[in-house]
Amino acid sequence: MDDARARDLLTTELAELDERARFAERTLADSSGDTEEGALGQHPGDHGSEVAGTMDSELLVDTVSEQRRLVQEALGRLDEGTYGRCAVCGNRIDDERLEARPEVPTCRAHADTPVVA
Ligand SMILES: [Zn+2]
Repeated sequence: MDDARARDLLTTELAELDERARFAERTLADSSGDTEEGALGQHPGDHGSEVAGTMDSELLVDTVSEQRRLVQEALGRLDEGTYGRCAVCGNRIDDERLEARPEVPTCRAHADTPVVA
């Protein structure tokens, strides 16, 4: 994969992650401290699903910020000229893998190997 293509994929992904982060944070803000629905006679059985929704949003905020970090690191590797190389063994990461997940720092063989930054 050439650098221009990789940068395009990564910046697109970053924009999408920003959008998802805003959405998740808005969902969190909406669901905390809002008692209006309860006052209107919300069914008690609905309470559980509302709590679960808040937890999902918190999880989403964590996941999105972790993903943003990976994408930004990948953009940093593009700037350094090390993009597309496995952080563990230094081999080229194949294009199919980069097309699917342009932010990955490792080849298939090292997909589960933790990378120490
Ligand atoms: Zn590797």
